[in-house]
Amino acid sequence: MGNSTEHEEKEIRGLLQSDALYNYVLETSVYPREIEPLKELRDITAQHSEAWMGTAPDAGQFITMMLKLLNAKNTIEVGVYTGYSLLLTALTIPEDGKITAIDLNREYYDIGLPIIKKAGVEHKIDFIESKALSALDRLLNDKEKEGSFDYAFVDADKGNYWNYHERLMKLLKVGGVVIYDNTLWGGTVALSCEEEVPEIYKSNWKPILELNKLLAEDPRVQLSHVPLGDGITICRRIY
Ligand code: SAM
Ligand code: CA
Repeated sequence: MGNSTEHEEKEIRGLLQSDALYNYVLETSVYPREIEPLKELRDITAQHSEAWMGTAPDAGQFITMMLKLLNAKNTIEVGVYTGYSLLLTALTIPEDGKITAIDLNREYYDIGLPIIKKAGVEHKIDFIESKALSALDRLLNDKEKEGSFDYAFVDADKGNYWNYHERLMKLLKVGGVVIYDNTLWGGTVALSCEEEVPEIYKSNWKPILELNKLLAEDPRVQLSHVPLGDGITICRRIY
């Protein structure tokens, strides 16, 4: 885990009934199996002022298994930050696999890039510095890309998740999977009115609630809403 106890305590932000229980999962099942490049990237990210944005390692471990089960080769990453979920994807897909990774801020990507290079997987990544919506629209303009992706991970601006979903339903092949991150929004989705929502969660509270409702009603996907990390919603395109 991190370098100091104080840091470790700040890092805990799971949804289980206690921080101690979340820590137990991390210490017992996640950290001992986290491979060196991911640990290194997580440690470097922990020094950054927005380290809370990094993907939770327990969710990351699950995503790694999902990628293997799917045999994913051609993937999309919406929201890269320093690249924890990007790196785990690059390390998991085959040698000739490709990740189209989109983020409007290349400076974040550059923080993790030396570790990605050292891990020998940079050649699998096509980094696009752009707003995700226009980047996905550009992908859709290329007819060959339609229905060509096995997997996508969405972890950018929450207010656009549904817009990303509409595009991903065309870009993913039938049977392909998209995972949306932070869909339990620190547990605040269970609160009944906005006044009860802590200030830091307010801005995206309604968009996440709306997204969860829309996804649950979407007949194009099989769905599972899992309390890993900050909540992930796994959607498998069924037609
Ligand atoms: N998955 C990353 C990881 O494992 O560390 C964390 C992603 S972080 C929560 C969100 C990222 O989305 C930030 O790097 C931010 O620059 C990017 N972002 C926010 N709004 C965006 C947009 N409209 N288009 C593209 N990227 C965006
Ligand atoms: Ca996230």
